[in-house]
Amino acid sequence: MLEYKNTLDFAQQKDANDPLKLYRGKFYIPVINGIETIYFTGNSLGLQPKSTKNYIDKELDAWKNWGVEGHFLADKPWFKYHEFLTDKTARIVGALPSEVVVTHSLTTNLHLLMVSFYRPTSSRYKIVCEKKAFPSDQYALESQVKFHGFDPKDALIEVEPRAGEHIIRDEDVIEIINKHGDEIAMVMIGGVNYYTGQLFDIKEITKAGHKVGATVGWDLAHAAGNIKLKLHDWNIDFAAWCSYKYLNSSPGGVSGMFVHQRHEFNPDLPRFAGWWGYDKATRFLMEPGFIPMKGAEGWQLSNAPILGMAAHLAALDIFDEIGMDKLCEKRDDLTAYMEFVIETISERCKEICTLEIITPKDKTKRGAQLSILAHGLGKNLFDYITEKGVIADWREPNVIRIAPVPLYNSYVDVYRFGQILEEGIKSVKK
Ligand SMILES: *Cc1c(COP(=O)(O)O)cnc(C)c1O
Repeated sequence: MLEYKNTLDFAQQKDANDPLKLYRGKFYIPVINGIETIYFTGNSLGLQPKSTKNYIDKELDAWKNWGVEGHFLADKPWFKYHEFLTDKTARIVGALPSEVVVTHSLTTNLHLLMVSFYRPTSSRYKIVCEKKAFPSDQYALESQVKFHGFDPKDALIEVEPRAGEHIIRDEDVIEIINKHGDEIAMVMIGGVNYYTGQLFDIKEITKAGHKVGATVGWDLAHAAGNIKLKLHDWNIDFAAWCSYKYLNSSPGGVSGMFVHQRHEFNPDLPRFAGWWGYDKATRFLMEPGFIPMKGAEGWQLSNAPILGMAAHLAALDIFDEIGMDKLCEKRDDLTAYMEFVIETISERCKEICTLEIITPKDKTKRGAQLSILAHGLGKNLFDYITEKGVIADWREPNVIRIAPVPLYNSYVDVYRFGQILEEGIKSVKK
């Protein structure tokens, strides 16, 4: 393996040899205060593909030209617009086409799925989740538990890192699942933790949940488009993810939903229904009595927000062209380079500050994100790098989250980030 070097020359050479190098030019890189930013927050809001505008303009034109008839006469008829996203979505998350649908927003979808898959009884009502889950997930879980008349303090079992550690061990999740066994109704965890960037062992945790008779669902907000997923093979019950992080599909963009094929014909699953989940062959007869579409489409409530769907389709086409394999290959190398640069700087600056990467070192346990604890320095360092054009993410008390995204970040981005970080460490007040 090529040894990494913290030099501009090396980074430029890596970029020149990058098989995905042309893709950076397909995105808009924000320029703020006249500086082209070094954008490492694709884990929060992915950048805009230059093609997105055309996809949206096309639907605006169809609306202009056809009005309501666009549902049938538009190039991509709106009444089935979501179908144009299905195969591409299925390939990204490793699902059968019938197992996925793009619809609603993420937290909404989590609730809709929990209506079907969190079905507590008086003895089996607990949920295993991660401690410090993304706040929306915490609220969603808490409110689901309360909705069924249980006390979140009793019903939510939060798995946390061991004392002195930052990462939750998969074995600890599995042990807790086994320990509580038939009290557990559902396991629901973020596939990649938003704070530490750790990737859970989705397959083994799912297996453990099923063994004790629980349903197992995953929030894949930080995993979709970042990690190679095999949702069908891993046999998970359900999942949802947003499209605006690694999937670059516009702020607040539409969400994806997965329901395993095992559940597609189950008429006993309760669900909240709306007309877009109704069997498409007879939907417009508008008869009373809900007959769901087979598969994930049966969880749709509303007709699709076409402009947001168009933005998503633009990004999905880029993913489809590259494929997750190539993307993950570059992701591993770019992230490892970032790790190398940070470790080099930490070593050089250790008199002032050490940078501790809390994200797992093992590249099979992480995606593009690295979370760095800046020991000895606080927000001043973050403010410094922001002023110099680095867009990263700060979490109190002293964690910097950065995601070198393989689609559009370059090795030179990483090198330049390192230079700015080092200047910052040497110049900011503690
Ligand atoms: C980003 C994110 C969300 C955001 O939910 P929205 O409904 O899209 O606002 C929820 N959960 C996790 C784990 C996230 O990372």
